[in-house]
Amino acid sequence: MTAAVVVVGNGMAGARFAAELRAREPRRPIVVFGAEPGRAYNRILLSDLLAGKIAEDDLALAEPPGALDLRTDVEVVSIDPVSRTVEASDGSRTRYDALVLANGSRGVVPPIDGLWQDEETLLDGAATFRTLADCRQILAHARDAREVVVLGGGLLGLEAARGLATRGLSVQVVHARGQLMERQLDGEASRILIQTLAEFGVRVRLDAVTTAVIGEDRVRGVVLEDGSRIPADLLVIACGVRPKIDLAVKAGLQVNRGIVVDDSMRTSDPSIYAIGDCAEHRGRVYGLVAPAWEQARVAAEVICGGGAAYAGSRLVTRLKASGVDLAAMGDPHVDDESAEVVVFADPARRTYQKVVIRDQRLVGAILLGDNPTVGTVTQLFDRDAAVPADPRSLLFGRAGGTPTESAGALAAESTVCRCNGVTAGAIVRAWLGGARTVTEVSAMTRAGTGCGGCRDTIEGFVATLATDADLDTTSRPEEVVA
Ligand SMILES: Cc1cc2nc3c(=O)[nH]c(=O)nc-3n(C[C@H](O)[C@H](O)[C@H](O)COP(=O)(O)OP(=O)(O)OC[C@H]3O[C@@H](n4cnc5c(N)ncnc54)[C@H](O)[C@@H]3O)c2cc1C
Repeated sequence: MTAAVVVVGNGMAGARFAAELRAREPRRPIVVFGAEPGRAYNRILLSDLLAGKIAEDDLALAEPPGALDLRTDVEVVSIDPVSRTVEASDGSRTRYDALVLANGSRGVVPPIDGLWQDEETLLDGAATFRTLADCRQILAHARDAREVVVLGGGLLGLEAARGLATRGLSVQVVHARGQLMERQLDGEASRILIQTLAEFGVRVRLDAVTTAVIGEDRVRGVVLEDGSRIPADLLVIACGVRPKIDLAVKAGLQVNRGIVVDDSMRTSDPSIYAIGDCAEHRGRVYGLVAPAWEQARVAAEVICGGGAAYAGSRLVTRLKASGVDLAAMGDPHVDDESAEVVVFADPARRTYQKVVIRDQRLVGAILLGDNPTVGTVTQLFDRDAAVPADPRSLLFGRAGGTPTESAGALAAESTVCRCNGVTAGAIVRAWLGGARTVTEVSAMTRAGTGCGGCRDTIEGFVATLATDADLDTTSRPEEVVA
């Protein structure tokens, strides 16, 4: 019998890898270990669950077709690369011929006095924000809470803060740095974002280091470095994530910030692969789902004998917080003269737009507030395409006619679903193949099954295609696919 492919982690990368492998080799034995109980779920949507926009059932990820030896609530505790076996917390030993590490990352918990009840348990009323169990815990506390402190002004912290404010709680974000989302935004964007958040009842305190939690039996507030105290009966910790590398370290694999992999997603041991949040590729650890899913595809292809290679991903981040439109990509921080920077700020309208161009290519952008060109700008960045001669059109969608001729040329190739890398052409092909609703298009192409941010676009697409077909226009869907 063919030795199994063993996967450590039944999260977004591990589950996707199993599906990719199953699609290529339906008979290959696959064993998936998942430390969390229950089936794989869409972690990205936890923010929507917290905000009350969706129910737990909506988190489910599609199960791969065919049988899978899925061992949930079981943690892999060690790897023996010599005998090619993994040992798990249920005492089992499983042999592999290929091992895929997809064990993700863990939330960083800063050192704060009084935060822990014991070595493993946070004080009652405090929770990290990484898993479904965390989310359930936050929601349980939120039922009786009135005042919330969210530690961390990054993407996750702001999504948690906005979600809890939606539930009517008074929320304060405490961030140790001088601005919000410092990797994705600049100071001015951060200032306008703070004003936007204030309109939704989220207050922000910057340059504020939390040193202690107030409360013996449960959280009653926090103390900051300057001695000030903020009352709170719920404390959410969203201070970034760190790749889980302990297993790899113990197994003697090469690690840096993450588990070091080559373009085939192989680690320093050729029969062990790493994908998703735990992997470090060309010096980068992504922490986002689009790279994780692309890496899962490449690893499956390589394990099945194909020649796929992962070349890295271009980072686009979107804040999933009702009423706050924010997309940021690349590096918006300019520190040399060779870049052209175009900025438009209208704080009164809570709008800020910035594009950074180098050698006619977009290297960074911030689009905060209502922005008609967000799709075009994202496409140009994604594809590293040449920007229009007058870059103001990237901000306003005019000044020289269309936002960009290059974007027009990209129509069929343009990415509609970034999480899954699904193009407009692929959606049209699905429509031609009989998909008539968003659900049917998603089932055929996977578009819309990640963060869900593109579902409105797909709906618009499907409606337009249906109208075009009814009118039997000269512009036929087949031409878009071509
Ligand atoms: C609230 C929230 C919102 C997010 N929003 C976005 C977003 O909008 N866009 C975006 O791109 N990304 C977002 N992310 C990040 C995204 O969820 C991660 O990039 C993605 O989940 C990475 O997938 P992964 O499989 O590598 O890790 P995970 O999804 O964390 O899965 C790892 C799994 O491995 C299991 N595991 C760990 N160790 C072991 C072991 N030893 N044995 C067995 N199992 C083990 C863990 O229990 C876990 O289930 C968000 C994350 C959170 C928490």
